[in-house]
Order: sequence, then C-alpha cells, then structure tokens
Amino acid sequence: MKPLLYILGAGESGAGAAVLGMAQGFRVWVSDKGSIAPRYKAEMEACGAEWEEGQHDLDLLSKADLIIKSPGIPDSAPPVLAALQLGIPVISEIEFAARYTDAMLIGITGTNGKTTTTSLIYQILKDAEWNVGLGGNIGDSFARQVAQHQRDAYVLELSSFQLDNCYELCLDIAVLTNITTDHLERYGNMERYRASKMRITQNQGPEQAFIYCADDAETQLALKEHSPLSKTYSFSLSEEPRLGAWIQNGFIHLNTDQQHTTTIDMKDFTIRGQHNQNNSMAAAIVAQLVDVRKDSIRESLSHFENIEHRLEPCGRFKGIDFINDSKATNVNSAWYALESMDRPVIWIAGGVDKGNQYEDLKPLVREKVKMIICLGLDNIKIHQAFQSDVDMIINTMSAKEAVHVASRLAQSGDAVLLSPACASFDLFDNYEDRGRQFKEAVRNL
Ligand code: ADP
Repeated sequence: MKPLLYILGAGESGAGAAVLGMAQGFRVWVSDKGSIAPRYKAEMEACGAEWEEGQHDLDLLSKADLIIKSPGIPDSAPPVLAALQLGIPVISEIEFAARYTDAMLIGITGTNGKTTTTSLIYQILKDAEWNVGLGGNIGDSFARQVAQHQRDAYVLELSSFQLDNCYELCLDIAVLTNITTDHLERYGNMERYRASKMRITQNQGPEQAFIYCADDAETQLALKEHSPLSKTYSFSLSEEPRLGAWIQNGFIHLNTDQQHTTTIDMKDFTIRGQHNQNNSMAAAIVAQLVDVRKDSIRESLSHFENIEHRLEPCGRFKGIDFINDSKATNVNSAWYALESMDRPVIWIAGGVDKGNQYEDLKPLVREKVKMIICLGLDNIKIHQAFQSDVDMIINTMSAKEAVHVASRLAQSGDAVLLSPACASFDLFDNYEDRGRQFKEAVRNL
C-alpha cells in the first residue's frame, strides 16, 4: 500500500506539495477548511491527488504517514493537535521538497527585507545564467518546481512559520536579514521569535554559510543564544567585519575569503535607502560565495526593478511625489522608509496595530514628517505617540480619502509616503489591496 501523505491547506504550497507527493509515489489527500481555488482543484485532479474542502477528515488523518502543514495554519488548529497527539510527523512544504532535490539551497529569512533580498539574489544568479528557481513565500511553490524542473539552485524566501516545521532541512547558504519585533501574537516573546528565525541555520556545519547583519542587536543576541556551527559572514553599514561586506564612500566592500577585497560601486543601484544597502550587501555576499563576477553583480543591482508595494514610486502630482510602501507592516520597516526620505514627508500610517512601540520613530518623524494622515479604524496610539512631533494629524477611512487629503495639504517638493507600520485588515483585504487602492487613488488625482 502506498504511504499516505495528508496535506493541510490547499493554497500554493499545499497544491505544489500534492504534485510532488504524487510524483514520489504517495497516496495524497489535500484537506482545506475553507474553499479551494479552482486552479488548484484542477491541478490536483490532473495529477491524481484527492482533496476535500470545508472540513478536515480526521479519521483519515489518523492513518496518515506524513502530514504537510501550510504555514498559515497555527499549531493550535485541531487537526495539527490531533496529528501531534498521534505522533504523526508534521512538516512544512519546504522540508518536504528539500528531501527530493540535490540542488544548492539558498534560504532567506528575517523580519524585514526577505522578499527584496531573495529577489536580488535570484536576479543576480539568473543574470549570471544559472539554472535557478525562486520559491518559498514567493512565486511558484518550491515543491511544484522540484516535481517539474531540474534546477541547479533554488533561492527560497522563508518565513518563520515555514521554518517552524523544518527539521532536517540544511541550507547551503542561509541569510538572516534582521530580527525586530513582529509576530509576537504567535511567539509570545522575542526569545521564541529569535529561536524560530535561527532555525535557518539548523543542521548547518562549517561547510555551509550563514550570513547576518552585524548591526542588528537582536541578531547578535540570537547568535549568542544559538551559536550556529556554520561558517559565518556578516554585513554592516558601520564597521568592517572579519568576513563579509561593508560600505564605505558609496562602495560595497566584499571580503569573503580574508585574502582580497572586492569593491562594487553603488552609484547606479536602483533601490535606495539604508535597508536596501543591507539587502544588497547580503545578496552580494551570496553572489561572491558562488563565484559570480563583481561586474555581473553590479549590473544586476543596477537593473533591478523595484518590487511592488516596497518604496514603490507611483506617481507625481503638482510636484508632489507619491510612494507606496504598503508592505511596511511593522514599525521597523516604516523606520527605514522614513529614513530613506530626502524631502519633507506627509506620512500615511495606521491600520491594525500589532503591539507597536512608536518611540524609535519619533526622532525621524520630528526631522522629516510635516503631518501624519492616519489610515485605520483606531488611530489613538498614533495620535498619542506623535501629537507633540508634528503640526497636524488627520484621520481618514479610505485610501482614496487619504490621498485626496494629502494632495491638498502637500506642497510641491514634498513626498506623500504610505508606510503604515501596521497590518491592513481593518480597512483592506491585505497589504496588496491597500497598496493598489492607494495607487489607484493617485492615478485618479
Ligand atoms: P519581507 O518580505 O521580509 O516582508 P520586503 O523585502 O517585502 O520584506 O520589504 C518590506 C518592507 O520592509 C519594505 O517596504 C521596507 O520598508 C522594509 N525593509 C526592506 N528591507 C529591509 C531591511 N533590510 N531592514 C529593515 N526594513 C526593511
């Protein structure tokens, strides 16, 4: 009898895991409590996987040999608890897919900068003509790609939710962009959140590389707590690390072997701000470790197209620039967005507060922000935090209203920055919806 693979959640990762499971000889059962998108149903039917929606068949689950859980399903969900009680292994799609490929695996995690850094690394490798796949939280699921392609390398964006159900995964190169407060609703405290992020180094030894931000205090703490065995490289905006990258006079300096330093001119890099300097350094270290030439790295970073909703310029109206940074869903990412502004800012912020502490933002707000436009249902914390720092704080209830108010109050030469520091679920479906509505409102000015 075939081993039974029971997949919880039929989104991109679940459907991809079903395709790989079938290819690897499992009987595959995909179960989703909600409804399943028609394209995934069609894909599962085409490959012979069975599925159910609107419920979980717990009787069948008790007979499973292996369970794959989508990252969005919490450990406290009844089928997960049932599986754990029965001693059935519960793993993530990433862990599953990694079992069936010999390709080089490069994984990126961190509170902020995952998508950008992952995309930068992928772009550099693709430009250098590598046969490389992009997966994890972005694009096609890793498992589906393993089932359908023979790649030499994968660049994977990994959330802590995905890492939590990885046990044997061993990345050839692991990148941790930073650790700042987020997702405390899931982890309860920073120590547990740090531990989850450090799973990116699990099973690594001196043959594998771990790249981290030397300037990040939480990462330094995590390193002390977990002492990874990996070969470590770091990047810094302020000091020269033993091995890794740093910035001086507009150049990235790269030194990954203690023998010679390579410099890369950042003058034509398309993405701006200190945070993107960090992301670029992380990507450049990876590139140098796999022997991509420095001219090729510079070219790739000079042609990289801005990713939607990340400091995305989205229009100019009467000399006022509008910038969509809707993906900034926590305080730290908004800090970097504000830091990167070189003009007076009308700051659109707010939404669902995740226990935000605004203290760190106050100096930047005092220096750069002329007024705040709140875009959320409950804006009290923003008023309390910043009322002494700006002249005006205005409440709005839609992206259209926020853009309209901003366009009337801003002057030529100002920037209107949507960088909410909050989740979007009070007024929008998700951060993409918020960003698109913002851009639409700007287009209609
Ligand atoms: P993630 O995938 O981790 O959410 P993104 O690359 O999508 O990160 O960027 C999300 C937001 O976080 C961006 O809009 C930007 O404001 C901020 N950001 C990006 N990179 C960094 C970084 N290295 N450090 C801090 N903030 C960052």
